[in-house]
Amino acid sequence: MNPQKTPKIPYTLPKAEMHTHISLALSNEAFIRRVKKKRTDLSLEFLIDRETRYYPDLAKFHGTYESMRHMTNTQQELADTVQGYLERIAREGAIYAEISNSYREGADFEWQMEAVSAGIECARHNTGIEARIVVTTLRDHGAEKAEAAAKFLTSYKNPYVTGFGLVGDEGLNQFMEFSKALNIAWHDAGLGLSPHVAEQHLHNAVDFLEAIPQEALSNHPRDMRRLRLGHGVLIHLSSDLIAEFSDKQICMEICLSANKRIGLPDATKAHAIGEIITSQNRKRTVTIDRPLTHYYESIADHPIKHFMDAGIPVCLGSDNPLLMNTNIGKEYSLVNQAGVTDRADHLQLTRNAILYANVDPLTRARLLSHIDDYQDQVEQSDILPLETALGYKKAFMD
Ligand SMILES: [Zn+2]
Repeated sequence: MNPQKTPKIPYTLPKAEMHTHISLALSNEAFIRRVKKKRTDLSLEFLIDRETRYYPDLAKFHGTYESMRHMTNTQQELADTVQGYLERIAREGAIYAEISNSYREGADFEWQMEAVSAGIECARHNTGIEARIVVTTLRDHGAEKAEAAAKFLTSYKNPYVTGFGLVGDEGLNQFMEFSKALNIAWHDAGLGLSPHVAEQHLHNAVDFLEAIPQEALSNHPRDMRRLRLGHGVLIHLSSDLIAEFSDKQICMEICLSANKRIGLPDATKAHAIGEIITSQNRKRTVTIDRPLTHYYESIADHPIKHFMDAGIPVCLGSDNPLLMNTNIGKEYSLVNQAGVTDRADHLQLTRNAILYANVDPLTRARLLSHIDDYQDQVEQSDILPLETALGYKKAFMD
């Protein structure tokens, strides 16, 4: 083996995909068909030219996202995208996925959720993969829209909708403004929470700790709701925040490719050691005492290992697989490059995902049993299983 090359993680290792925006999670083949039909102004260069899937800033990323927005316009296209994605990741070893889709007002939301649910059911039928939906709202649309979405979800019945999230530009408004929406989602709609936090702006992580319903930090293990945060990578700037996330056992969805491929705003790059960040309600301050690592240039500099060593429960997500040229198998292999090389730690990423999944206790126990079975086999015989936990087999191990 080439010593320079980081070993891949076996496809049979049970995996979980905990952060992906599903409507654009098209396969390369589906993308090519859309390009041929002129459904996007992107060309096939998007798949071939490496630089097209690197984004100097969030605005560039959102621009590309917008040019793809109409690639899943119909119920069939959305259902196919969901089913195709889940079946693909099942072949990579995934046993579970939490996929997100945006809230829409009116009938659009109903047909979209029907499509996503149908895709989940068919993928489960074919492969055994389990999945749940996080309904997200865009911060750019403001807190009132987020509250309206959370209120709508209090009477919306769909067994697959088990989480609520916030996406969009973290720099446009204050995270605290969304406290009411998060509280409605948790208390009234009975949903788990996984907002995007501190992907681009650190102060969101300080406000996050104040804005979340405090009950979410100590809910009963049999309660199916969980609190996670999307990204959170910038908390590595502050030992205070790392310690607090560890103490409170807040699960982080780490998306290595997304972190590597989207540049940071100048204000974030300008943070200095000694700087104090105060929450908007002035109840919490943290000090920046660690330098910004250059994970956006090199995965080796990603702080994921530091987070794990500090005792924070970490799981993985591919965020936007088509836009980031990734998949969940690749994200697991990338943790090796980031210094998480212990086999037990790889499996722990999946265990954390399932422990923090928004699923009922029976489903959680069943999913955990796949992880236990894999661990038992590897520990007892030191031989890797020849098929995934859900029974998919390849001619050769890669
Ligand atoms: Zn995301």
